[in-house]
Amino acid sequence: MIFDCIVVGAGVVGTAIARELSGCSHQGRALNVALVEAREDVGDATSKANTAILHTGFDASPGTMESRLVRRGYHLLLNYALDAGIPVERTGALLVAWTEDERLTLPLLQDKAVSNGYLETSIVNAQEVYARVPSLGPGVLGGLVVPDEFIICPWTTPLAFAHDAIARGAHLHLNAAVTGAKVGPDETVLQTSAGPLRTRWLINAAGLGSDILDSSLGHDRFHLHPRRGQLIVFDKLARSLVDVIVLPVPSKVGKGVLISPTVFGNVMLGPTAEDLTDRSDTATTDEGLAFLRDKGAKILPALLHEEVTAMYAGLRAASDQSDVTVEVNADQRYVVAGGIRSTGLTASMAIAEHVRSLIDANLPLTDRTDLPPTVRMPNIGENELRPFQDESLIAADSAYGEIVCFCERVTRGEIRDALQSHLPARDLDGLRRRTRAQMGRCQGFFCGAEIQAMMDGVE
Ligand SMILES: Cc1cc2nc3c(=O)[nH]c(=O)nc-3n(C[C@H](O)[C@H](O)[C@H](O)COP(=O)(O)OP(=O)(O)OC[C@H]3O[C@@H](n4cnc5c(N)ncnc54)[C@H](O)[C@@H]3O)c2cc1C
Repeated sequence: MIFDCIVVGAGVVGTAIARELSGCSHQGRALNVALVEAREDVGDATSKANTAILHTGFDASPGTMESRLVRRGYHLLLNYALDAGIPVERTGALLVAWTEDERLTLPLLQDKAVSNGYLETSIVNAQEVYARVPSLGPGVLGGLVVPDEFIICPWTTPLAFAHDAIARGAHLHLNAAVTGAKVGPDETVLQTSAGPLRTRWLINAAGLGSDILDSSLGHDRFHLHPRRGQLIVFDKLARSLVDVIVLPVPSKVGKGVLISPTVFGNVMLGPTAEDLTDRSDTATTDEGLAFLRDKGAKILPALLHEEVTAMYAGLRAASDQSDVTVEVNADQRYVVAGGIRSTGLTASMAIAEHVRSLIDANLPLTDRTDLPPTVRMPNIGENELRPFQDESLIAADSAYGEIVCFCERVTRGEIRDALQSHLPARDLDGLRRRTRAQMGRCQGFFCGAEIQAMMDGVE
């Protein structure tokens, strides 16, 4: 079998691309698309460990491809989230100035936002900042309100893209690490840990592995290293302290440490920005957590008195290029989408759209007219009705009235569905991302055995 397109990497970017391309046809025939992933689940690498903000792109570097993709991706993903049932909360953000230098930067940031096509920011004084977030620490000098920065579910997003791609006929190959590619005149043969795969077009969305795959095709255009971001997640009781995303004034070294509500009802503090060499080092460290606690104590002192539910770290694909690398090599029938650093969740659908346009210039594509409806994902956000609260759902199927994970209020029906879907959870981590089971304050102490029995099929 020769695929028309193989997408390597099932993070939020690769799943968005697979969904987009499987919605296309060429000369009246639907594209035959495969999504190839080294791990045993989609969205299991950088895409599962970020700060989950749907960025307006107000602070992007104006004129860059990243700025354009974030701006477009914001609108595409917000609309898609409504259709697919991806949890989003319209919190808005408040960027806070703590020093005189930072206060003087606020008008410059506002100008930058305008250059990025975002006109809705407003500068507020210290009194107005405290009126919005009374628990902020002492010393605020002013702020910038960014009303359209929202929070979104980072886990449901790639899962929804992948479910849609599969419903459109895409083939998902998990546990298939691509180890090499041989480009021929009419087809490319990929060597994978699960055997060879043949394709006409190859799309490289391999995240932190994208520069390695790119070089195996003979290119030397970008080099990546992991920039680790550690985060602390506080218990749901902390949520009353903060209802908006509290941002720092960004500096030359990055966006800085923020405090944000999550769609699951928690509050997160982070991330750090540590340049590493090991592309698999997602450990949290004493130094990283101490650094975050220090920052948090200044921004929102009361937060540090709340219980910590979890800690995690994600690896940004930091590039030696100042912009993202999304390029086509038509002679190789090859597109690369790499160096997608801090905004890939937001930009994912716009990257997919752009990849399609690069292919379309060489292989004319049209929209398929026989597409199934967009998937509707199970709701795991706090903003909408959860199954345990839904009387009609429980009346139709009593498994939705039977809570298994009490911390997160996850029902037997949801766990069963997650284990039986077209893209089932294969391990506990996968189940967490689909249902929130075991993500609460007891971390599975209470429900661990019962959930394991359900996973083993003995209950
Ligand atoms: C701490 C942190 C905070 C962030 N905050 C935000 C935010 O608030 N908002 C936002 O929009 N973005 C944010 N981001 C950025 C966002 O998470 C990333 O840009 C995005 O997840 C990148 O997705 P991806 O699909 O390119 O990479 P990944 O999710 O890493 O997916 C790449 C996939 O390719 C697979 N792969 C690699 N090599 C191979 C191979 N040879 N063969 C087969 N498969 C392979 C990997 O296993 C992986 O599953 C943040 C990132 C971090 C780390």
